[in-house]
Amino acid sequence: MTKRLWIETVGCQMNVLDSELVVAALRRQGWELATASSEADAVFYNTCSVRQHAEDKIYSALGRIRQEKLRRPELVIGVIGCMAQKDQLLVRSRAPWVDLVVGPGQLHQIPTLVADVLAGGGPRLEVSLDRKAGSRDAVTLSFESYDPDRDPTMRPTPFQALVRTQTGCDKFCAFCVVPHVRGPEQARSVASIVAETQKLVAEGCLEITLIGQTVNSYRWNEGGKMLRLSDLLEQLNSVDGLERIKFVTNYPRDMTDDLIAAVRDLPKVCPYLHVPAQHGCDAVLSRMKRGYTIGEYMEMLHRVRESLPHAAVTSDFIVGFCGETDAEFTRSLDLVRSANFKNSYIFKYSPRPGTKAFERQIDDVPEAVKRGRNQMLLDAQTVVSLAGNQPFIGTRQQVLVEGLSAREEKNGGLPSVDGQAQLMGRTPCDRIVVFHAPLRLIGRLVDVDITATAAWSLVGVVADGLAEAKLLDELPSPASASALYAIALPTRTPTGAARA
Ligand code: SF4
Repeated sequence: MTKRLWIETVGCQMNVLDSELVVAALRRQGWELATASSEADAVFYNTCSVRQHAEDKIYSALGRIRQEKLRRPELVIGVIGCMAQKDQLLVRSRAPWVDLVVGPGQLHQIPTLVADVLAGGGPRLEVSLDRKAGSRDAVTLSFESYDPDRDPTMRPTPFQALVRTQTGCDKFCAFCVVPHVRGPEQARSVASIVAETQKLVAEGCLEITLIGQTVNSYRWNEGGKMLRLSDLLEQLNSVDGLERIKFVTNYPRDMTDDLIAAVRDLPKVCPYLHVPAQHGCDAVLSRMKRGYTIGEYMEMLHRVRESLPHAAVTSDFIVGFCGETDAEFTRSLDLVRSANFKNSYIFKYSPRPGTKAFERQIDDVPEAVKRGRNQMLLDAQTVVSLAGNQPFIGTRQQVLVEGLSAREEKNGGLPSVDGQAQLMGRTPCDRIVVFHAPLRLIGRLVDVDITATAAWSLVGVVADGLAEAKLLDELPSPASASALYAIALPTRTPTGAARA
């Protein structure tokens, strides 16, 4: 009988892609997705360790699934991803009903591991080496890359895909657990990334987002020539049928002139750069071991603005890092007010075991102060974002229609009697646009005239009714459009992001 899998994913886009690949691998073994955990033969949690809150959520979920496991002992429960690598034996000591603990460097083993558990082989722990447990080569080898053939039906939408450029990170920022749980940085070859993209495009993909913890650190040695992200972008720009290329997340010091020129010169590369500053004060950046000063960050931003005056730049900030004073926090406020970020993802510092900050610095900013600073920075960014969106009123923007708007999702997503609904899509510079239109436009590039703005989105109407009518004649039938609509992505808001 067909086995069914339920998978819950938290964390960054790496995890979203990992879940897609795990599901694809199990589908090749005959598994299907369940519609609820209560109907599943296996329940997986793909976990995140970037903040304590993300781990707490998983342990709470494990507490809830315990009752189901008591009712159905044959249910396979798996904890996979970053928390599995970080906590390892701790997961089963806190939740002994877990059958599988599998780190991000061992996900390729999942089909075999699940089969072993179902055959009565007992619980399994498969993780990679700790960063200090061997030579760099040995540790690198223990994090196996996991990018087998994609399964187009498992992508959040058929017309967008995440494509991994590299795994791991070597930057070791003091607050960050990623280098420990995702291992040393390992790039995929240019040829494999291009081939995967060509396949995705053949399956109907219009937009790819290259993902790496520090995507712009990408290096690939090809016959003695070191290829960088700009070279990769140039090759991807030539892929016929591909419309848009995005890449996240960028490390400020690796925002080189050749990369900025590639974004300027290659028409398919979107003018959208997520370059986390993390803080506005040199002393805090030094304690964070970020490896740059605010002067250097601003110099980078100046080069970006000079070459790409219309590009959207976004940032991450951490508030309440160890020892952060009121005066130091004010420098982050100053940066947000002056840097004209499209939006910023703002997080309260969360100490992570295994990191330098956890071992050597004191988490001494009270929670209430962190909360207050988080709100102040968000308020400052909201003012900047609102002002930054104003010039879009009266312009025409090309939008890739992703699905229902957040409001429509909340309302249950049923189209009105005229077959239309409030849809959302994104401009090349990653601004969210909402507009009323037929569901059949989902997955299409359309022009939208912007009529109003909010801080996190633009509002518009589909441009040129005649052109639209012509387009609608060429579009798929409502039946296939409804399939697209059923798997449309939820709207992303500036409260969660990839890290760098
Ligand atoms: S914050 Fe980004 S660059 Fe720094 S260690 Fe973490 S993943 Fe690497």
